Amino acid sequence: AVDPNPPALLLQRRAQVLSPSLSISYAHKLKIVRGQGAYLYDHTGRAYIDGVNNICHVGHSHPHVVAALAKQAAQLNTNTRYLHETILDYTERLTRTFPEPLRVAFLVCSGSEANELALRIARTVTGRQHTITLDWAYHGNTNAAIDVSPYKFNRKGGRGKPAHVQIATLPDPYRGSFKGTSAATGVAYAQSVAEQIAVIRATTGQGPAAFIAEAISGCGGQVFFPDAYLSTSAALVRKAGGLVIVDEVQTGFGRIGEQFWAHGPQGVIPDIVTLGKPIGNGHPMAAVITTAEIARAFANGMEFFSSFGGNPVSCAVGMAVLDVIEQEGLQHHALTTGEYLKRGLLALADRHALIGDVRGQGLFVGVELVQDRETLTPATEAATRVVNHMREHGVLLSTDGPFDNVLKIKPPLAFGRLEADVMIDALDRALTAPH
Ligand code: PMP
Repeated sequence: AVDPNPPALLLQRRAQVLSPSLSISYAHKLKIVRGQGAYLYDHTGRAYIDGVNNICHVGHSHPHVVAALAKQAAQLNTNTRYLHETILDYTERLTRTFPEPLRVAFLVCSGSEANELALRIARTVTGRQHTITLDWAYHGNTNAAIDVSPYKFNRKGGRGKPAHVQIATLPDPYRGSFKGTSAATGVAYAQSVAEQIAVIRATTGQGPAAFIAEAISGCGGQVFFPDAYLSTSAALVRKAGGLVIVDEVQTGFGRIGEQFWAHGPQGVIPDIVTLGKPIGNGHPMAAVITTAEIARAFANGMEFFSSFGGNPVSCAVGMAVLDVIEQEGLQHHALTTGEYLKRGLLALADRHALIGDVRGQGLFVGVELVQDRETLTPATEAATRVVNHMREHGVLLSTDGPFDNVLKIKPPLAFGRLEADVMIDALDRALTAPH
C-alpha cells in the first residue's frame, strides 16, 4: 500500500505547524511507526536497534506496562485530591528504593517540572536564591531549569549565565584538567564547588540555596565523576547551608547495573532527587524525592498541586515499570550486558585510533572519538559520520558532549548480547569505512 504520509510530506507538514526550534534526528529523516523491546521499525518495515532511548527503559511497548495503563485508564483517571490506594502503593514502593531519610515523593509530569520544583523547594526552604550547577549540564526546558543549564544558556541562542547561578567545573576524568577516577581527583574537582560557594558568599553574604548535579553527566558527554566528587561537594554545600539536588532523570532505575540509583556509588545521600524519563517507560511522569523534614519546611501554607501528576493511570504505569525491572532482573541484566558491550568496545579501541575513551556503567556508555590520543582533539565530524553510517546499518545512536564527539549509548534495557554484537560490528564497519 502507498503510504499517504511519506517522510517528505511529514517534513513539510511539520514545517507548517511545529516550531522551527524543534530539531529532528538524522539528515536522512526517519519515520518510525512501531517499537518493540530494543527495536524501532520504520514505515517500510525496516528494524533498527534503538541504542539511545533511556525513556522506554524496560523496552518499547512492553506488554505489562501497556496492559496496566489500559486497565487503569478504563476504570478511573482523576487528580490526587481524592483518596486512592494506587498513589500510596506506588510512592511507598518508589521511595523504598532510596536510602533513609528520602521518604517523601512529589509526583509531576516531566523531568523539567521535577527540577523546577526541586529548585523551588530548595529556595523556599533556605530562603536563598543562588544555585551552583555543573558546566555543560542540562536540567530541563522551564525557566528555572534553563537557568541552571549551561548546555543551553552558554550555547547558540542562550543569554549566558544568570546572576543567581554559578558554574562549577565539570569533573571530567578524561578531558578535564585533573585526570583519572581516583578520590584525589574527585576532591580536586570539588575545589571548584568551594570556589563558587565563596563567590556567592562574597556577593550575597550567605551560602547557596542549592547545588544541582546529575549523578553522571549526560549532555556533558556521558562523563562519570571521579570517586568522592559528589560526596565532597555535598559536604561543602551543606556546610554552607545549601541543599544537594541530584538529577537522576537519565541515570536512575537500574540502568547503571551496580545500583538502582547512580548517586549510590558516589557515596552521597542527596537532600532532593529528581526522576523522569524511564519512570513511566514513555508515559509522561516524573518525581521529586526528598526528606520528611524538607517537605515539612516547604509546606509553608502555599498548596502544591499538579493536575496530572500522580494520577491513578500514571501510578499504575510507574508500578508496572517497577514490576518489569524486578521480574525480568533488568538491573542485573544492565550490569552484565553493559560489561559485555564495554569489552567489545575496548577491543575496537585496540584497532581504531579514533576511539580515545570507552567509559560506562551498566547500559550507560560513552565512546569518545578523538583525532589524536595525545592532544585529545575532538573528532566531531567523524562522530557524525559514524552515527549516520550506523543508521544505514540499522543501529540508532547519537552524539553529545561539548564537542559532539561522544557516541552516547543508552538503549532500552531490553537490549541484550545479540544487539551488542550487532552494534559493535556496525561501529567497527563505520570506523573502517572510507570517507
Ligand atoms: N534532566 C536531565 C538530566 C535530562 O537529560 C532531561 C531531558 N533530556 C531533563 C532533566 C528534562 O526532562 P524532560 O525532557 O522530561 O522535561
